[in-house]
Amino acid sequence: MQRACRKIEDDTDEYHWIGPAGKLPSLPLRAGLFLQASALQFLKLEGAAAVAPFCKEEECPHEASQSQTGLCDDSAALCFCRCSRAESVALVKNGRAAVYLVRDATPGQPGDVAVADLKRCLWAISDVEISESSRTGLLPLYVGEKGQFTSLPVSVPELGREAFFYKVSPQGIFLIGGSPEGTSHAIYTLLRELGCRWIMPGDIGECLPRTNNLALPVDEKVDGPDFDYRIVWYAYGCSPAASARYNDWLRRNRMGKPAIEHGHNLTQTLSRKATYEQHPEYYSLVGGKRVPQQVCTSNPEAVKLIVESIREFLDKNPHVESYSLCPDDNHDFCECEHCKALDVGHMDRGGKPSVSDRYQIFLNQVLDGLHKTHPGACVTTYSYNLNHTDPPQKTPVNPHTTVFITTSAFCSAHGVDDAFCESRQDFKELLKEWSRHTKRLILYEYDPVPYSGALPWPMWEAHIHEAPIYKQLGIKGLSFEGQNSWAAYYPNYYVAAQMMWDADQDGHAVFKDMLQAFFEEEAPAMEQFYEAMQSTIKAFRPKAEWGLIQYPELFPPEVIDRCQQALDSIDPQAMRSVKVRQRLQMVELSFQEMKNYLALQSPQKILNYEDYKAHVDGMKGSIDSLHSLNEDFILADIAHEKTGRAISDQFAPEQGFLTRWRLIGPFDNPGMEGHDTPYPPESAVDLSARYPGKGGEVQWKMTQSPEWRAFVDLRAEFEEKNDVCAYAVCWVTIPDGPRQAEFRMGSNDSIKAFLNGKEVWNHKIQRTGTIDEDRVLVELPSGTSTVLLKIGQTGLNWGFFFRIMEAGKDVPLQGLTASPDPPK
Ligand SMILES: [Zn+2]
Ligand SMILES: [Zn+2]
Repeated sequence: MQRACRKIEDDTDEYHWIGPAGKLPSLPLRAGLFLQASALQFLKLEGAAAVAPFCKEEECPHEASQSQTGLCDDSAALCFCRCSRAESVALVKNGRAAVYLVRDATPGQPGDVAVADLKRCLWAISDVEISESSRTGLLPLYVGEKGQFTSLPVSVPELGREAFFYKVSPQGIFLIGGSPEGTSHAIYTLLRELGCRWIMPGDIGECLPRTNNLALPVDEKVDGPDFDYRIVWYAYGCSPAASARYNDWLRRNRMGKPAIEHGHNLTQTLSRKATYEQHPEYYSLVGGKRVPQQVCTSNPEAVKLIVESIREFLDKNPHVESYSLCPDDNHDFCECEHCKALDVGHMDRGGKPSVSDRYQIFLNQVLDGLHKTHPGACVTTYSYNLNHTDPPQKTPVNPHTTVFITTSAFCSAHGVDDAFCESRQDFKELLKEWSRHTKRLILYEYDPVPYSGALPWPMWEAHIHEAPIYKQLGIKGLSFEGQNSWAAYYPNYYVAAQMMWDADQDGHAVFKDMLQAFFEEEAPAMEQFYEAMQSTIKAFRPKAEWGLIQYPELFPPEVIDRCQQALDSIDPQAMRSVKVRQRLQMVELSFQEMKNYLALQSPQKILNYEDYKAHVDGMKGSIDSLHSLNEDFILADIAHEKTGRAISDQFAPEQGFLTRWRLIGPFDNPGMEGHDTPYPPESAVDLSARYPGKGGEVQWKMTQSPEWRAFVDLRAEFEEKNDVCAYAVCWVTIPDGPRQAEFRMGSNDSIKAFLNGKEVWNHKIQRTGTIDEDRVLVELPSGTSTVLLKIGQTGLNWGFFFRIMEAGKDVPLQGLTASPDPPK
């Protein structure tokens, strides 16, 4: 040790450290540049002012065999060796600028934002201002597009739009882009090399090193993204302030997207030329009636108008590379004989008869028409609607067809081609099938599932696994529909952004590097936390559906305990920066929300109404605290809505919900046909009767929701969970009828209500079920009335909310009593 110290003092700067990785917990010297703990202490002991620049061990240009020229710390087997100055190039040295900027300084250049950011970052890292005038001893740092320089002392190859030439040499540093975007990517590539990270939007997400010495290894490369189209976007939008921070995050993480449009835009395109009211015959025929949901795509007049509509749009928006002709968001494709004649009888893997051939015939006609005036124009469609997921079977695809292939019908937890996930294996098949028809394919992923309510949903492993597969398959772009709730989803989005840039890099190293930059000395604990959370996805074998119904199965108590242990291992008293404290607080609050939500989803564990209320308040409190700490942490309205509406404190017993019922079922309900099939309980309620049901004989039984839970949970009551229906009955009594009252219902899925044997409500629908979504006025006679409900189920969750209110008022009907027992 002594021996090593003396030698290091001999040479005052520029050491590379080459040591065995993972031998000791690593500590950041600067973000992105790591040093083993003992080596750092060793250098600190020596008061080494000039420990930088260290490079990452894997970047050390020295062979290990050369380490004998350096020194060894035998105890930890760490080696140092001196590097010659020529092998790295300084930007800042001993707190002084070592470079000056050379660029086209005409104001208003598109790349100005990135250049300004470069100067800001270098200043924030080392308090050094990079000037734009040459001085003796300073190296030139060229930034811009090739055409912006009258002469460059290096030869730059031809560059694609987003590509760039990157060179670090003793003659200068060159960041030359094929376009302003390419230059911007070059700038952020350099800043990444220096250890800068932008984990999430805003100041809280920025991780910059602090040092007096900044240098880069000698290097020369042409680089660019692996996918042309790279974006994580917000399904629910955001405020203007959040939008500015989000755009910075996109730019700094080298995201980008050409003007390839998508979105449900078919009827809108036609209606600009002919509305449904003017020409219903141009729109789709469903159940014998023209409806404005889709277009009658075999109608030549409609096709002609759509071509004109797109022409006009492209003339006004010439930058648009592919115009969206994605069908509207429903299955109501035209049933007219001309349209149907174009179908080829293929059953789509979405589960409905395919319309992909007729839709492609339509797109081909549109493209043929469009190319007469706009050669090369492209149109976009989705592989999304349940009858338009598969590619066409017999129709050739015009190569100007762009397809966004969505994962909506597939598993929401696993990555494509996951060993255990048949659904995502099938998704890979779908990609292959489409790739035989067009090269213009863009992957449309949901991250996380819609309706996730800002609850954690680990997807980074899936992204790491998927990116190289997508690249291999020749996918042109990746579009991830997300939410601006970064507290839970920053690991998903940050890792996705890096994999979109370079699909073949070590994604696990990216993940670790992210935690190191974001949590510094608490990175090991946070790694345990996320490893526990992620482990559940690996262990979860069923297909994960949209929504939160499987959430408690995804995150069983032992996983939550492991996460908690990891957080508990962090010493709350330890000294740390304000930013790291806030980041830890962010994770803690998001985890609190999750724990409370899970508790509310385990009714058997809730003791009483007070206990229930405490969890509801806890969950709401975490959401509100997150939001008040930072607007980007959580989209509070959506989180409250998606997680809270089904379990909010409105459901106090005094709200009038009827939770004690007798049930009978399940009866068959294929394709929701059971909704219209009058099973025996509909004609008479006989509590002693037995009937053939789905899966065996059925009879009446009692159910009672906990007093604090308004939802009558049928999933818990019946074994059969798909394509079934059931009846619920209770008896309500008023002393002073007849009185006007309001039945208020919510159901998952369909519902019928009968009052004293007479149908008073009928709603055939698939939905998730929230309180009071259906309302109907009824007249209750004096005495006791029979209320019979019929609930239809298609898949996953099912059940209902039911209460009887004063007509038109938000108060329960006065004097009403209810019982699951008939009057004696
Ligand atoms: Zn038609
Ligand atoms: Zn799966």
